[in-house]
Amino acid sequence: MNTHLSGTALTPEDPGYDTERTGFQTAFRQRPALIVAADSAEDVRLAVEFARAHALRVSVQATGHAPADAAPGGLLISTRRMAEVHVDPTARTARAQAGARWEAVVAASTPHGLAPLNGSAPHVGVVAYTLGGGLSLLARKYGYAADHVRAIDVVTADATLRHVTAESDPDLFWALRGGRDNFGVVTSIEVDLVPVARVYGGSLIFDADLVEAATAAYLAWTETVPEEMTSSILFIGLPDIEQVPPPLRGRHTAAIKIVYSGDAADGERLVAPLRAIGPRLVDNLADLPYADSHTIHADPTHPHAYLGDNALVRDLDAAVVGKVYALTGPNAPMMVVHEVRHLGGALSRQPAVPNAVGGRDAGYLVRVVAMVEGPGPDAARALLADVHAVLDPLSVGRNLNFVYGDGVPSDPDRVTSMYDPRSWARLRDLKAAHDPGNLFTGNHNIAPADGS
Ligand SMILES: Cc1cc2nc3c(=O)[nH]c(=O)nc-3n(C[C@H](O)[C@H](O)[C@H](O)COP(=O)(O)OP(=O)(O)OC[C@H]3O[C@@H](n4cnc5c(N)ncnc54)[C@H](O)[C@@H]3O)c2cc1C
Repeated sequence: MNTHLSGTALTPEDPGYDTERTGFQTAFRQRPALIVAADSAEDVRLAVEFARAHALRVSVQATGHAPADAAPGGLLISTRRMAEVHVDPTARTARAQAGARWEAVVAASTPHGLAPLNGSAPHVGVVAYTLGGGLSLLARKYGYAADHVRAIDVVTADATLRHVTAESDPDLFWALRGGRDNFGVVTSIEVDLVPVARVYGGSLIFDADLVEAATAAYLAWTETVPEEMTSSILFIGLPDIEQVPPPLRGRHTAAIKIVYSGDAADGERLVAPLRAIGPRLVDNLADLPYADSHTIHADPTHPHAYLGDNALVRDLDAAVVGKVYALTGPNAPMMVVHEVRHLGGALSRQPAVPNAVGGRDAGYLVRVVAMVEGPGPDAARALLADVHAVLDPLSVGRNLNFVYGDGVPSDPDRVTSMYDPRSWARLRDLKAAHDPGNLFTGNHNIAPADGS
């Protein structure tokens, strides 16, 4: 590998190899022939040049939350060292390098009364989340995070580092925002920040006997709320262990997660129908500085083994959620997270500069994450297949970000379902133009169009 590299190149024989390829998802790890632990955009460029010269497929990893395809071989570009973040409070933008996590952007933005469009877990990577759509805590008010990208620095398959904007290359700019890792390795991204300093939010958690009532009341309530209200209902059975707080220990619960960017008094009024469902095990709704918004979903921060998939649906009734709960609730053979996120609002509108993100006609996202410990990945795959048998007749697509890699190349039908048919055809044409040899295949692959 080129001696001009300022980072490190690692083969399976090198001591740092295992640490470098290990990320948040512990069930499936990349198994590349070579890892380039990049320090700079030039390192990324050199790595792509090397891969191209040696016919090695390229994959990329920042935090390893969602390795798409862990097929052995190829070259993995690890970006975790490229973690710089710069906030411009006047322009209301943040620029993040490829390995930066949302927590760094939140920390740099909130002192200026600004917030990024991050999701539930601040330890997720900025770049992949944004290019995969990015369903944020403020999603219904502002749309997808991908709708708020100003510029992308990317190394394309010809080993050229490009600064891509809506003006410089409208087609590539469109494709990257939704097509994620199919068009190059992004070295940094510039995104909008929004003027949100605080939110009214938290959880209303109901015990198992109120799951059905909470589901019905929640779905009816979502039809009444303004775009400032972004919410979800999450079903989970928590183990009977000391680390789980006493009111939730060993219980199956339904947790309604609230993020309201209007004022707290309005928020209180809006959630009244949810409080009327019945007694809560937890009710911690409060006015929160945006810096504390990570406490709302309180996603796990420790690496673990999981499989996950989702379906986008236009409408949803409580009976369908009940059928999924029958599979994922107390009867499931492993710990399962089942969540319904309310979409619509700005998510249903194309942004001023359109992009490839699909599923804008969906009203809800239903996602299921099955833990792989215990019965193992085959049991988790079987459970997800059963869930999809319930949801497929209603499904209008899939959200790329919530398809967590299962260590095997992505089924082409699954990838197609992430995009609208016209976008899919355009993405394949643009893939043929920008990556005709399909160098970037360590992903949910968009195969180049056949040249017709
Ligand atoms: C606990 C948890 C909570 C989540 N919450 C949300 C949420 O609220 N909203 C939401 O939208 N999503 C959410 N996600 C999904 C998350 O956005 C995706 O899994 C995202 O792809 C993770 O990116 P990463 O960089 O952290 O992970 P990685 O596994 O490092 O990257 C994921 C994929 O992105 C590609 N990629 C990484 N870096 C680059 C790059 N520089 N250039 C091009 N492609 C790249 C890689 O090919 C890789 O397959 C959540 C995931 C988890 C595990």
